[in-house]
Amino acid sequence: MKHLIIMICCCILYCCTPAQNLTKDQPSTTPITTISTSSPKTAKNIIFLIGDGMGLTQTTAGMYANGNKTELEKFEYIGLHKSHASDNLITDSAAAATAFACGIKTYNGAIGVDDNKQSKTTILEEAEAKGMATGLVSTSTIVHATPASYIAHNESRQNYEEIAADFLETDIDLFIGGGKKFFERREDERNLTTELRQKGYIVTDFIDSDLLNLNIDITKNFACYTSEEQPLPVAQGRDYLPDVTRQSIEYLDKKSGDEGFFLMVEGSQIDWGGHANKADYIISEFIDFDKALKEAVDFAEKDGNTLVVVTADHETGGFAIQTTSTMDSLVTAFTSDYHTASMIPVYALGPHAKDFKGIYENTEIYFKMRKAFGWGEMTK
Ligand SMILES: [Zn+2]
Repeated sequence: MKHLIIMICCCILYCCTPAQNLTKDQPSTTPITTISTSSPKTAKNIIFLIGDGMGLTQTTAGMYANGNKTELEKFEYIGLHKSHASDNLITDSAAAATAFACGIKTYNGAIGVDDNKQSKTTILEEAEAKGMATGLVSTSTIVHATPASYIAHNESRQNYEEIAADFLETDIDLFIGGGKKFFERREDERNLTTELRQKGYIVTDFIDSDLLNLNIDITKNFACYTSEEQPLPVAQGRDYLPDVTRQSIEYLDKKSGDEGFFLMVEGSQIDWGGHANKADYIISEFIDFDKALKEAVDFAEKDGNTLVVVTADHETGGFAIQTTSTMDSLVTAFTSDYHTASMIPVYALGPHAKDFKGIYENTEIYFKMRKAFGWGEMTK
């Protein structure tokens, strides 16, 4: 919530750029207008939702199992991204999330760093520096590859305790996910919960709070651990993602005032259903994620200034719906217990949603989100 002046200056610079595009023989007496009625307004807020491992078949199976409907049908603009990492055609979640967060292709396992293991500023860090409110929500541990790549910088996704310590390095307004032990039971004996509280955070967890009714104080930053280690599958009782998504949006919207917010929400366990080759696991996690999508879509439709982008990092399992299937009874198969290289759908609605149609590298999602915020296009 700092550096408002910088943000205003950036806006002025950005808004002024069309005037520089005038042709040389423009008569000097012609009134110059810098407002293009054809270019869409910028997005005040971006809600970016990632269904980990959610390829097209995961979406198809989830949709049929959900009564042949999904919130994704409300998205007017759909594209495809190429998911490959810098060192491997088959990406992992770390390289993919770093592509979305930083706009770079990097190696599998990299968290917010490039091929040379150099830290790259993430879209969440830049939003925070511009005075916006920021948040991360996940159904894995919050230090797992996808959420970690927005806030941490580490050469390896496995360094969970180092990644947790990076949460102290930004002023992220809100984070909610599993992995309490990485903040409190650490080899270096730091207690990051205590340190977060010293920084002014309200910190709570699944024991002390009702996740469905968090009553978040908008004058404070907020952290909530939803489990000691990995949260349960939704089929085994985890139920927080849709409610926490709604509460996080309400909190960030109120807290950010006129500045806007960036929120990343991950449905982490669609991927784990793919690794386990369990169609029921994929489907139940997709349906839970779809309910979280509804919260984002409902807010965006009311708000009118919010871009919602939904995608996956990669497909998992080589999942297929087989020939004897009916809509009510899917017969499925898998070709792999790991990720696959297929292109991944990207769904967008709200300001600048049109920019997300077409076929492009996963890194382009970062640049398209920057453009939607009106931050201007960076040199790639
Ligand atoms: Zn995976």
